[in-house]
Amino acid sequence: MNIVVCVKQIPDPAAPQSLESSTHNLNRSGKLILDEADTYGVEMALQLVDKAGTGEVTVVSMGSSSDLAGVRNALAMGAAKAIIVSDDSLRGSDALSTAKVLAAAIRRVNPDLVLAATESSDGYTGTTPVQIAELLGLPSITFAKSVNVDGSLVTVNRQTEAGYDEVTSPLPALVTVTAGVVEPRYASFKGIMAAKSKPVEILTVADLGLDGQVGASGAGQSIVAVEAAEARESGEVVVDDGDGADKIVAFLDSIKVL
Ligand SMILES: Cc1cc2nc3c(=O)[nH]c(=O)nc-3n(C[C@H](O)[C@H](O)[C@H](O)COP(=O)(O)OP(=O)(O)OC[C@H]3O[C@@H](n4cnc5c(N)ncnc54)[C@H](O)[C@@H]3O)c2cc1C
Repeated sequence: MNIVVCVKQIPDPAAPQSLESSTHNLNRSGKLILDEADTYGVEMALQLVDKAGTGEVTVVSMGSSSDLAGVRNALAMGAAKAIIVSDDSLRGSDALSTAKVLAAAIRRVNPDLVLAATESSDGYTGTTPVQIAELLGLPSITFAKSVNVDGSLVTVNRQTEAGYDEVTSPLPALVTVTAGVVEPRYASFKGIMAAKSKPVEILTVADLGLDGQVGASGAGQSIVAVEAAEARESGEVVVDDGDGADKIVAFLDSIKVL
């Protein structure tokens, strides 16, 4: 069974973040790491391939190829190879353009299953995976808290507010996984050394036949302004003069939760 995992390299959340002044895009010139949200997909894929006894995990990423530490981390965990789409013309890509690029790269692998996180830790629109599924004509199942493959079917326990739904789909399909679907492994020293010689294919927009359709020229969205969020107002302090309970009830009543 061949599985593609979408993995995003993001600016280290532990480092100070800034926006580029002209485009308002996140400044991604510093150190990039593997988004922790994607380590769950990588681990899930490795376990499914292990269980199937055949196949491999390919990680696919769009972004800078100048720092591949995040992708190497996925390879060190056990993924067999990586495809990175990296091109200056991708600057200004919105979520749909990102999905077009990732879908075109995934199409080259023709996997049985595509895994992604439900949302990234930096952009967190949570829209890219389902757009990829639509572009590839695949069924998508989101918010997986468990994923099982049996023959040509994938069964997912899909997290809901009330509990979970059991959803079954024919393969190929796309599934987004939540944190907690499995416990990601730490890369071993052997895995880190092996990752250095695993294949990493770097593709351009032209390689994917997407010239002029992605990047700023293909974007349907633009960031027109960025403003600091308003500071939160201090809350109202209610003093309990023996009527505290009544005041709480009156407050809850006023916001219509009673
Ligand atoms: C107008 C506009 C301009 C932008 N310009 C730029 C820019 O110049 N440079 C730039 O880097 N970003 C840019 N962005 C942000 C970029 O579009 C988002 O990173 C992208 O749309 C993915 O959205 P997200 O992070 O919200 O993904 P989500 O939908 O929250 O991601 C869910 C999951 O999809 C997968 N995924 C998402 N993105 C990728 C990826 N790139 N590679 C592999 N897997 C992925 C991961 O598994 C991820 O956890 C721009 C956004 C807008 C709206």
